[in-house]
Amino acid sequence: MSVLVFVEGFNGEIKKSSLEAATYGYQVAQQLGTSATAVAIGEVHEEALAKLGEQGISKVLYDADSRLNNFVADAYVKVIAKAAQQENAKVLVFSNSNIGAAVGAKLAVRLNGSLATNVTTLPKTDGGFIVTRSVFSGKAFAEVNLTSDVKIIAVKKNALEIANAGSGPATVEKFSADLTDADFAAAPKETIMQDTSGGVLLTEAEIVVSGGRGLKGPENWHLVEDLAKALGAATACSKPVADLDWRPHHEHVGQTGIAVSPNLYIAIGISGAIQHLAGVNSSKVIVVINKDPEAPFFKAADYGIVGDAFDVVPKLIEAARGLDK
Ligand code: FAD
Repeated sequence: MSVLVFVEGFNGEIKKSSLEAATYGYQVAQQLGTSATAVAIGEVHEEALAKLGEQGISKVLYDADSRLNNFVADAYVKVIAKAAQQENAKVLVFSNSNIGAAVGAKLAVRLNGSLATNVTTLPKTDGGFIVTRSVFSGKAFAEVNLTSDVKIIAVKKNALEIANAGSGPATVEKFSADLTDADFAAAPKETIMQDTSGGVLLTEAEIVVSGGRGLKGPENWHLVEDLAKALGAATACSKPVADLDWRPHHEHVGQTGIAVSPNLYIAIGISGAIQHLAGVNSSKVIVVINKDPEAPFFKAADYGIVGDAFDVVPKLIEAARGLDK
């Protein structure tokens, strides 16, 4: 019996959220007295895979089939299911990314397993396999007991620190699931990567600078962009800003947009409506700049600046440009 972690790559490197999943998988394996193996698919550097040893992963099964460079749900599920079978994995761990959530649900059906998404804790294993899930957009927590033989866990981004288990490099083994054309029956024709004007992918960004309707119009977006550039951050916006065409829709964060989980989220001229908070409340530190001291966002903020964005942000840009990065 073992633990299997599905890791996702981006630009050849392992995504931060997958390093969190690997950490989680290793810690569950320790609890259960077994080892943690990873499965990786598509374009990932083998050195990056071997480095998963730092998170306690002993072995990585790597399917480098180029047809898998773009996400194809059925094919990914087949690869992971075969890896799970080969490794006799009873606990499967993913990041709660779009891909992780999609393959997790399909795998639960295929392996007759139970699935818990948005998991924030390691399991309690005395008398069951009980994990805590973040529910209702982070407003509440639910404890669930996974009772089936195969347990599938999608770990909420930023829920745990990436650990360094101090182990040597993982061994990387080539792996193939003998995919056929039928596995690619529903495959994307083209994938268009949408990076933000900050040049950093929003879902992977460590820092996000986000603007709302308080910025008055697209002509003032240089404030968001300049601050993002000075901090090496991605840019984002509230929904009305995208609806007004001030910014493209792929920058809109929130319940109906993208969920982000950076270490630092800076909100400029955003009121902090519950639908906006739903997409940003996994951020480690939230800084709010708003001229209204009663703006709801201040209740969710770690740091708040009550002031006019047009006065405050240029000073922040100047200070950020002076930072020794
Ligand atoms: P506003 O609410 O207009 O707030 C502007 C803020 O800027 C105010 O707090 C104001 O005090 C401040 N301000 C004004 N001038 C300045 C200045 N000079 N300096 C500093 N501060 C200033 N919204 C999302 O963002 N994401 C979603 O995913 C989302 N999904 C939704 C889904 C549904 C079903 C519904 C009903 C709504 C959804 N919304 C979503 C909309 C959400 O309810 C809010 O209307 C929206 O988030 C408000 O955007 P805003 O804060 O930019 O604008």
